[in-house]
Amino acid sequence: MPSWLIPRVLKLWAALGLGSLVGFLGGRQIHAPLMGTVLGLGGASFLFLLRDLLPGYRLAKWLREPSEQPAPALHGPWGEVGYRAERLLRLRERELEEQRRRLEQFFTAIDAAPNGVTLLDASDHVLWFSSMAADHFGLEPKRDIGQRITNLVRAPALLSYLQAGNFDEPVKITQPSGQGTLMLVLRAYGDGHKLMLSQDITERERAETMRRDFVANVSHEIRTPLTVLAGFIESMTHLQLTDVERKRVLGLMAQQTDRMQALVSDLLTLAKLEGSPRPAMDRWVPVSKLMAHVESDARSLSGGRHKLSFTSLDDAAVKDIELAGSETELISALANLAGNAVRYTPADGSVDVRWAILPDGQGEFSVTDTGVGIDREHIPRLTERFYRVDGSRARETGGTGLGLSIVKHVAQRHAGELRIDSEVGKGSRFSLLFPAARVRGGSQSSPGAAPALNADVQESWPPLRVVK
Ligand code: ADP
Repeated sequence: MPSWLIPRVLKLWAALGLGSLVGFLGGRQIHAPLMGTVLGLGGASFLFLLRDLLPGYRLAKWLREPSEQPAPALHGPWGEVGYRAERLLRLRERELEEQRRRLEQFFTAIDAAPNGVTLLDASDHVLWFSSMAADHFGLEPKRDIGQRITNLVRAPALLSYLQAGNFDEPVKITQPSGQGTLMLVLRAYGDGHKLMLSQDITERERAETMRRDFVANVSHEIRTPLTVLAGFIESMTHLQLTDVERKRVLGLMAQQTDRMQALVSDLLTLAKLEGSPRPAMDRWVPVSKLMAHVESDARSLSGGRHKLSFTSLDDAAVKDIELAGSETELISALANLAGNAVRYTPADGSVDVRWAILPDGQGEFSVTDTGVGIDREHIPRLTERFYRVDGSRARETGGTGLGLSIVKHVAQRHAGELRIDSEVGKGSRFSLLFPAARVRGGSQSSPGAAPALNADVQESWPPLRVVK
């Protein structure tokens, strides 16, 4: 029972009693006590009602426009109504605030998703989209919410996908900017609404194309020597060959086998480079050891046909200097560069292999030749797998087309870079640069120490282009 009820009833009784008493006494003066009593009762009831209406009016006014202000402080039943209404109102407000906060969190979480999310209504109008979706489709919230998606993303594939209404399979479209490919997945929900997930698959498509090209290239590279070998085997089986012919055919067969061996070995090197962790920073390789390896490889490949020069192992530029990285990878990269210089330089040409520390502390291996040179347009593509400037010449000289890809990989894995500069008919300069942090020892190991770059080489070559 509410606490105000008994006092209220008592007050009513008192008011009615007082009213009827006053009415009775007044009525008796004019000899109409009954009428006086009734009028007294009526008047008292009216006044009591009037006294109740006022707080009721104040409460109704507050309820009509509830604000941050608390409900008016009232007594009696209106006080309780006001208190309970305010409590309900605040509860609702808190619930709404909580729901709004949760919704906001939910949308923030969707916004953080790596895929774009777009919500569409039953007639494909945009209800909401995440910032990733905005990026994918070039949308702007203020301008595009409420627009039909097919007006915003003009892709025939999306239009027919939505019209067909079968969303079991994803659909691929070209990004509206024309820059890449998007994969869209739709899911229906609620009242014909749709959730559209978009994913940028440009990189994946590029990798897939590269993989396909790579397999096709490898197959082609292997098939060619195999076909030649099969032809020789056939000849040897069916033809009577003289000893001289037989020797010649066996020599040619050995050449093809070598070619396949070189290809498989380069493929394995590439696979290893891609599949293994980056070389540690705490494995130090003496630069003189690398130089000695390169020198012996290049001399045996040249067979005395070229003028070869190397930074002397006693030279201060090399002595006691170490490079952080993987010895086998560094040897492989340098041997490839020196090998190319020998292979693409005609007899009597010269090849110069140097190590130097640049003024900014970077370590540089450079291989300079006076060979055939490379046309400017080919330079950015040289490190692509199987890219050759002149296919027949490269194969003739025993090239696999993978050498510079290996060099580029090794450079990247050592936080270095490969720079190429060349002029047709004049020669080429390939240099491998390593960050100062990977070089130590010797008098030039500290950044800014005396430059060890060969002055002739530096002067004779224009600023280098970087091949990424
Ligand atoms: P390959 O095994 O065919 O030599 P690489 O990846 O080592 O493959 O080199 C790619 C191409 O770059 C070669 O086919 C050749 O045309 C060109 N090239 C590389 N080094 C030199 C060089 N020192 N002089 C001229 N051309 C070169």
